[in-house]
Amino acid sequence: MINANELYGQGFKRGLMPDPEMMVSDWADKNRHLSQKSSAEPGRWRTERTPYLREIMDCLSPVSPHQRVVFMKGAQIGGTEAGQNWIGYTVHLAPGPMMIVQPTVETAKRWSKQRLAPMIDDTPAISRLIKAPRERDSGNTVLTKEYQGGVMIITGANSAVGLRSVPVMYLFCDEIDGYPSDVEGEGDPVSLAEVRTGTFSRKKIFLVSTPTIKGFSRIEREYEDSDKRKYHVPCPFCDHYQQIIWDRIKWPKAMDGTPQLDDIAYQCSRCEKLIPDHHKTDMLARGQWVAEAPGPGKSAGFHLSSLYSPLGWVSWAKIAAEFIEAKKDTELLKTWINTRLGETWEEEGEQPDDNYLFSRREDYGPEIPAGGVVLTCGADVHPDRIEAEVVAWGIGQESWSITYEVFRGSTSEQEVWKELDDFLMQEWRHVSGVPIRIACACIDSGDQTQEVYMFVKPRQMRRVFAVKGSSIAGHPLVGRPSKNNIGGVQLFSIGTDTAKDVIYGRLKIADPGAGFMHFPTGYDQEYFLQLTAEKIVTKMVKGFPVRAYKLTRERNEALDVRVYALAALVILNADMDKVAENLQKKAEEIAKNKTEKPKARTPVKRTGFVHRWKS
Ligand SMILES: [Zn+2]
Repeated sequence: MINANELYGQGFKRGLMPDPEMMVSDWADKNRHLSQKSSAEPGRWRTERTPYLREIMDCLSPVSPHQRVVFMKGAQIGGTEAGQNWIGYTVHLAPGPMMIVQPTVETAKRWSKQRLAPMIDDTPAISRLIKAPRERDSGNTVLTKEYQGGVMIITGANSAVGLRSVPVMYLFCDEIDGYPSDVEGEGDPVSLAEVRTGTFSRKKIFLVSTPTIKGFSRIEREYEDSDKRKYHVPCPFCDHYQQIIWDRIKWPKAMDGTPQLDDIAYQCSRCEKLIPDHHKTDMLARGQWVAEAPGPGKSAGFHLSSLYSPLGWVSWAKIAAEFIEAKKDTELLKTWINTRLGETWEEEGEQPDDNYLFSRREDYGPEIPAGGVVLTCGADVHPDRIEAEVVAWGIGQESWSITYEVFRGSTSEQEVWKELDDFLMQEWRHVSGVPIRIACACIDSGDQTQEVYMFVKPRQMRRVFAVKGSSIAGHPLVGRPSKNNIGGVQLFSIGTDTAKDVIYGRLKIADPGAGFMHFPTGYDQEYFLQLTAEKIVTKMVKGFPVRAYKLTRERNEALDVRVYALAALVILNADMDKVAENLQKKAEEIAKNKTEKPKARTPVKRTGFVHRWKS
């Protein structure tokens, strides 16, 4: 027997008379208002708009026996809103200590300001319970909300202190695939947070995420251990219940092969009739969750792709258009599979083939090829030498390696630095005749830290920066610079694994265009051995699989310097179309000046865009 007093705890005591039948979805329909600030469809919340969320939210209701709810999802289906409705419900009707975990403290702050604050402001049922943070003694900050009978702690999975702070009855872990595998040496952040719920018999744990890579995805692991529910919807023609799967989304093609996405439809797995997406609203309303692996003691697990996104949010046509674009590029395809299908990406786990890359070297002469419009440099500093690469970048980050130099000499002496400086100041010639300089350079400060700081300090104005590698999974390719170092220089942290993912993904691209990497004929076998020196492996850390790059050959400098050259491009953050346009203008001027001289009458080829220069 459940005692209502125990069930509703503080909410009951403070004189509220909660309806024992009240579910989170009913509460949301009655009380939740969607803010203009954070919602595409402001106004009253209607569960019927996203009917698949009803069962998920109701598993989070106190009357449901489930303690753990897992939601593996695609983007734009309202997953975060389900969590917010649950938060609103507990604040209002079943208060208790609650913790909300986002991937980092930074994203936690953003989530609190952009998602939570507007919900509190626009939902009177809870705004009267949580004092505005500007009021004195409100007990409220961006990361802490106090209210009668409860407290809400918002923290990041990168903060062990935050995760250990208080015992909690409710735990909401959002975007768990973005969490570090190990938080400050204390192990898995989800486990660390879950330990805090230990003493509460009425606890609820909600784990939500878009999945990432197969074998490493937390949400997939959680889903696989759950009762594995899938949403089945009826065919409007034959009434057969089925999941909406990508393989059955069809669109016709024109004679020339152009996809006709206006006529996109879902093909029923039984009657094979084509179902256009205006039927979706009715199909979703009649849909039901089917557990594939029911069993006692299991978490309630839900999987839903963006193909279920309600009419007016993200259409099948839009998802298909994204797919057609994404399949040209491994990185884009990976993101598409994760965020649209809500599925993990299966990594081949292999090393790029150095022989293949060696065999496809090209002779593009001493000048910067037409497509390359921005130059960056990456440099790796050792006690006895500095290795540096200059890379030309074009539209879609297509790249051309221009040169790879090794400056020999002790890096505690001035001479080798002078050589590097001259190299960085050098003017390069674009094939159009326009001279260009290195726009940004990144120098690794991991080894010879003092010397690197001294070198970059007077050169930061020229965008010569010190960088430091971080192999934390999910670290952004370039983090915000910090000045908190002995040299007082701007130090950028580089997500080396993130950068290597980008580079290895691009080495798989076989045809010139976005992301493709070109190499000149002058490069030897050793260069390609170094570039492909690392392999993605699985390491077990405290019982959890962790994805890591492992050195398989003695040297990997070519890969390291490419990471820094790529980071320099990210720091530069240039509008490539604009840069290309400016370069084109300069090239035309040079060509004009030439033709004005009577003897050199070379015709000027006028084309609109730089990426067409090749034709
Ligand atoms: Zn049918």
